[in-house]
Amino acid sequence: GSADILLQLRQKLSPAGDVVSPRGRALTEKVFGKPLTPVEVVQTICNDVQTEGTAALLRYCQALDNAELSAAELRVPAEALEQAHAAADPKLIESIRRIRDNITEFQSAILHQDATIEPRAGVRLTQRYVPLERIGVCVPGGAAAYPSTVLMTVVPAQVAGVKQIAVVAPPTKFGAYNADMLATCHELGVTEVYRMGGAQAVAAMAYGCDCIEPVHKIVGPGNLFVALAKKHVFGTVDIDSFAGPSEVIVIADGTARADYIAADLLAQAEHSPGSAILITWDETLIDAVHDELAKQVVQLERNELTVESLEAFGALILVRDEQQACELTDDFAPEHLHIETANPRDQIAKIRNSGAAFLGHHTPVALGDYAAGPSHVLPTGGTCTWAAGLSSNSFLRSGSITEFDEPALKQIAADVERLAEKEGLTAHARSVSIRR
Ligand code: NAD
Repeated sequence: GSADILLQLRQKLSPAGDVVSPRGRALTEKVFGKPLTPVEVVQTICNDVQTEGTAALLRYCQALDNAELSAAELRVPAEALEQAHAAADPKLIESIRRIRDNITEFQSAILHQDATIEPRAGVRLTQRYVPLERIGVCVPGGAAAYPSTVLMTVVPAQVAGVKQIAVVAPPTKFGAYNADMLATCHELGVTEVYRMGGAQAVAAMAYGCDCIEPVHKIVGPGNLFVALAKKHVFGTVDIDSFAGPSEVIVIADGTARADYIAADLLAQAEHSPGSAILITWDETLIDAVHDELAKQVVQLERNELTVESLEAFGALILVRDEQQACELTDDFAPEHLHIETANPRDQIAKIRNSGAAFLGHHTPVALGDYAAGPSHVLPTGGTCTWAAGLSSNSFLRSGSITEFDEPALKQIAADVERLAEKEGLTAHARSVSIRR
């Protein structure tokens, strides 16, 4: 049944089930001289960077990314950022500015505000929010360039008030040598950009070394090695999430257009691996979308990868009715949910679990990927049941402030003393009774 198909897809897509390509395995053997699991690879790299610092970082840049760099070359010079910006397509810079403004507007509106209550005379309780001082952003650079990742991570951090932002990208043409990515950093006022990627960059940001000061939190997407490295350093620093392959569920009824739905499914499958699932109670839509997929996929630049992705992680699912569509979606807990029905607000009200939801025929997920305002760094693999996507609030930490006057202390003293004595912590009790 439909539920079984979704369960199988969920298992295949879980980050733990993520597999490394034969090329990746060959690289591991070449670099480490033996077959290691991705977890072992990441542990080795992180430990080496922690103990040897810059020397290990340079060694792994060479071994994993074929980049012969000196320690001085690990940081992108200010002139390179300026030049990339000056040479960039002016239309791209205009788009970046408009998108930055959209992100800023939304992320400012949702930012937590300090809260203070005075529940009784003489008692003042505050929860205050303080921006993190220094954060690190991973920008991927293995297979494609992602200026949008810079926007979707850096702008929420700036809205929160983070002053120091370090961006790392692998020393590759799609990474730290990508002019559009560098121009985006410059436009956003990011001056610290480093030519390092993978687990070695995550370790360098967590532990610090001669060439980079340690950060307090590491955010941003990446491949399995980046994700595992973030998990490894969690505790030394904070991280945003452990992200796996991208996913979308499209819920559609008879008002939806098959060509739009096919385009939406292909946009997700193009991530490769990316999971694209249609759930509908309209039988005619299944065949129509199937035909459209075949027609549209051949026109795509990444058509072979997209077909592979669709075959492995795609599904067109016919359900009984709207209710079943909502229940299955809630169980799957997709990263992206797109509802293409006559009244999408009716369905979203019945679904609790989605990282980001997109409502209506004119709200493709790509709007959220690039320009709308909420960040595109989202919980995958069903983790949206307990995790939230990145936002300006991800860059705040909270702390409490408690203030009592003498009468208020006297009023509550007996309760504190009683509990402290029950726990055998007499010094705690005495710190209150001494003030009575
Ligand atoms: P990446 O920068 O994450 O990884 C490249 C690095 O991986 C290399 O620098 C190298 O150090 C390391 N590496 C590669 N093979 C290795 C091996 N065998 N052993 C040890 N280390 C190895 O770039 P990528 O590979 O292109 O992956 C980017 C991922 O991020 C993709 O899955 C993409 O879909 C995802 N992404 C997600 C979002 C989002 O917001 N959800 C945005 C952009 C990209």
